[in-house]
Amino acid sequence: MLKGKIKQLVYVLAIIAIAATYSMPAYTKENFTVCIDPGHQAKGDPKGEPIAPGSGQRKARVSSGTSGVATKKAEYKVNLEAAMILKEILTAKGYQVVMTRETHDINISNAERAEVANKAKADMTIRIHCDSIGNSGKSGAVLLVPAKKGAHTAKIYEPSYKYAQLLKEALQKQGVRVNGIYERSDITGFNWSRVPVVIFEMGFMSNWSEDRMLSDKNHQTKLMQAAASALEAYNQTLNE
Ligand SMILES: [Zn+2]
Repeated sequence: MLKGKIKQLVYVLAIIAIAATYSMPAYTKENFTVCIDPGHQAKGDPKGEPIAPGSGQRKARVSSGTSGVATKKAEYKVNLEAAMILKEILTAKGYQVVMTRETHDINISNAERAEVANKAKADMTIRIHCDSIGNSGKSGAVLLVPAKKGAHTAKIYEPSYKYAQLLKEALQKQGVRVNGIYERSDITGFNWSRVPVVIFEMGFMSNWSEDRMLSDKNHQTKLMQAAASALEAYNQTLNE
């Protein structure tokens, strides 16, 4: 009698375990790794590196970035400020976060940054930058993705574009102007990446008011919250 009851219980538990396995999302925050790359560093390194695996074309290992027309602040500082906010938001949400740098005094090339993400098998890499252009009237965010037809980027185009699209929507919801999503096949950090990657140009440091906003912690938080909520939406799509 008791034996029969135990048997019954074992069956019920087995069914519950199987049901739980099937209903569990394949991607959870705990097994989703985000690589955050705060663009540039204290000193650029003009020494060249191949722009893609096997390429004879070389670009500076890492450029020095731009600086603010109003604040005179260096881009690498703004990038790290924002990146640390994003790290904090994502960590609090339960994501695994890998940073390519947390200090300014470092020398890590664009290919090496891609390798950090590759090694971590990042599910998404977000590269944080600020823009600059010879027209102080221009403002707004710009999103760059690996080219759909690029020899080295075709494989990572689709998930990268999907996230960029969600980021664009999240930013617009926050009232942030987004100039567009542009495909690039000439970016070292894209060509060496084997995992999805997006460059988030947060705004133009060549625009007087946007430059000031980019150094404002509330504005940085607003931008990074958009990046995080887009990631939540992206994570959802992986389980659909
Ligand atoms: Zn930059």
